[in-house]
Amino acid sequence: MTQLARRHLLFGCFRQAGQGAVLPFRPPWSLAWTDEAAFAAACSRCDACIAACPAGVLKRGDGGFPELTFAATGCTLCRECVSACRDGAFAADAAEPWNLAVAFTEACLPGRGVECRTCGEHCEAGAIRFRPRLGGAPLPALDADACTGCGACVPVCPAGAIEPRRRAAGSSPLPAAERASAPLFPTEAP
Ligand code: SF4
Ligand code: SF4
Ligand code: SF4
Repeated sequence: MTQLARRHLLFGCFRQAGQGAVLPFRPPWSLAWTDEAAFAAACSRCDACIAACPAGVLKRGDGGFPELTFAATGCTLCRECVSACRDGAFAADAAEPWNLAVAFTEACLPGRGVECRTCGEHCEAGAIRFRPRLGGAPLPALDADACTGCGACVPVCPAGAIEPRRRAAGSSPLPAAERASAPLFPTEAP
């Protein structure tokens, strides 16, 4: 597993478009999803959002800023972190909590001949479907429009084959045409 892939698993992160910087995942609805600098300026590092998170997916990260990890479970999108912040570090009125989805890597077991549907069984949004194929176990395919980016599928995968990915604004992780023909997403960072 590459260093970036390992960080994806332990602490969500993404590579900033066109730049080498790897930024951590922040809480849903936080300003960081559109402007990391604005979030860093607003957040007082008080830990209120971390303390308020019933799922325990928020941790104190580099510099004392809250980071989100899917290492143990997913985010329920309950908005408790949003309500707890008194420093204006969240865009509470934003329609979307973030622009996250997931990608399946080639570590996925059905691609290696082993039957597995664990991720689909844990996706409450019904965003993972299994495509039958000749001569092999059905492969998972993401309905990117249905995926909320909750990350519930990430820690349950026995192969560590699911990576949370930040989407480009208004898009799916892959163009629709490519999505239709590619049940497994590529592993390169976006
Ligand atoms: S939305 Fe809820 S589960 Fe998700 S990070 Fe905020 S408090 Fe935690
Ligand atoms: S849980 Fe992991 S190994 Fe199993 S089908 Fe989903 S991505 Fe593949
Ligand atoms: S991240 Fe997407 S695919 Fe995974 S469980 Fe959540 S909604 Fe389903």
